[in-house]
Amino acid sequence: MQIPFDNTYARLPERFFARLDPTPVGAPRLLKVNATLARTLGIDPDWLAGPEGVEVLAGNRVPEGAEPLAQAYAGHQFGGFVPQLGDGRAILLGEVVGADGRRRDIQLKGSGRTPFSRGGDGRAAVGPVLREYLVSEAMAALGIPTTRTLGAVATGEVVRRETALPGAVLARVAASHIRVGTFQFFAVRQDVEGVRVLADHAIARHYPAAAEAEAPYAAFLDAVIAAQAELIARWMLVGFIHGVMNTDNCTISGETIDYGPCAFMDAFHPGTVFSSIDHGGRYAWGNQPRIAMWNLTRFAETLLPLLAGTEEEAIPGAQEALGRFAPRFEAAWLGGLLRKLGIAAPRESDAELAQDLLTRMQENEADFTLTFRHLADAAADDDAAVRAQFRDPSAYDSWAEGWRARLAEEATTPAQRRDAMRAVSPAFIPRNHLVEQALSAAMERDDLGPFEELLTVLSRPFDDQPGRERYATPPQPEERVLATFCGT
Ligand code: AMP
Ligand code: MG
Repeated sequence: MQIPFDNTYARLPERFFARLDPTPVGAPRLLKVNATLARTLGIDPDWLAGPEGVEVLAGNRVPEGAEPLAQAYAGHQFGGFVPQLGDGRAILLGEVVGADGRRRDIQLKGSGRTPFSRGGDGRAAVGPVLREYLVSEAMAALGIPTTRTLGAVATGEVVRRETALPGAVLARVAASHIRVGTFQFFAVRQDVEGVRVLADHAIARHYPAAAEAEAPYAAFLDAVIAAQAELIARWMLVGFIHGVMNTDNCTISGETIDYGPCAFMDAFHPGTVFSSIDHGGRYAWGNQPRIAMWNLTRFAETLLPLLAGTEEEAIPGAQEALGRFAPRFEAAWLGGLLRKLGIAAPRESDAELAQDLLTRMQENEADFTLTFRHLADAAADDDAAVRAQFRDPSAYDSWAEGWRARLAEEATTPAQRRDAMRAVSPAFIPRNHLVEQALSAAMERDDLGPFEELLTVLSRPFDDQPGRERYATPPQPEERVLATFCGT
């Protein structure tokens, strides 16, 4: 087998999915293969980038050992429940256990219509596919749990959106594609046995320790809540805005999934939202913890029949578990924020110091990423770059007085603080304007150079990269991207 498949989801009951092959495309052409990830999965990257591998990535050849299927799921989209969504343009080829011992899904996205396609064409366009490639790999390099990209191919076919666009298929790798919406699919059908089978599968796969607990399903719920609290804090600490935090885009594994209209903010403002379809700002940067909690509440509801004999008996325990989300999120967020300030041994009063900085950043349109990155230099007594992030630098100066006094009480040296701060505050994020420039070059001029270069820069986000300063720079006013699109 060229891909060492070892499938488990395909062993679950037939009502969990629809078995079907990807729909072949006209003229597959390789855009990019992720050689490092391929090796981790036990796949020869040269084979994957060769003619046979490209056919596999395009969906034109079903590789030995694959058991292609489209997964069933439901979901709340912008608060409204849809009882049947499912993989409308994706096919799970199967699972592999990597060199690191971890099991992962390999899924093709944009691989043709399925029984879950509803009105859609089952396809994806080059732009959104390359966008997912860039941002998912950037997130991985930032150390944030995420689905990955194994490769992308152009299809040689046209997809019709507002305009005619070149088509592509993305090979997505995930710890699994099980979502809150997958649980909702069975719960809404009152298929308690389905919920139980899915929970057992997810526990075995993601939270094996829960199986040993006194109350395995309660431990499972608790573990998913903990993973999401940690994940959302990690997003917030790099200025990431997911953009479509629907329950079908909320994984049970705790990985980030579905890079549609997501974006990183430039100037700090908690209300920042980019998605063209998010009119109310439901999924704005600062709302993300609240929305995650809402999604997890929907998840807990699906588990109620497993948690106790009756709903009435199950609810108090579920509420208690949900109540642990906020303190967990707060601890992860504040702990992370204080590390960005160079504070290794936090005290009660530090929260106020951190909040004061955020308020001043907001009032002064300070760039989120560069403020924290340059604050590391300020910890070693070079203030110039961080001051320049503030429209009124004196707003920074008056804050920095208190900050310096506080740092003086830390046991670390200035150089240690600077290094520790640089390790948690990246220089490089996938800024919208750079992503858009790379995608335009690929689509309009068939030039993958800017995409490749950006991907390389983003693979080392915490290192200074001399000569690549422009990739760290916020957009000029005319470069600013105001809205992002799902591209579906
Ligand atoms: P997403 O917005 O990508 O999270 O997708 C939400 C739902 O719409 C999922 O069930 C997708 O499979 C489905 N979907 C999105 N785009 C398409 C498409 N072009 N064709 C068929 N189904 C789609
Ligand atoms: Mg989705």
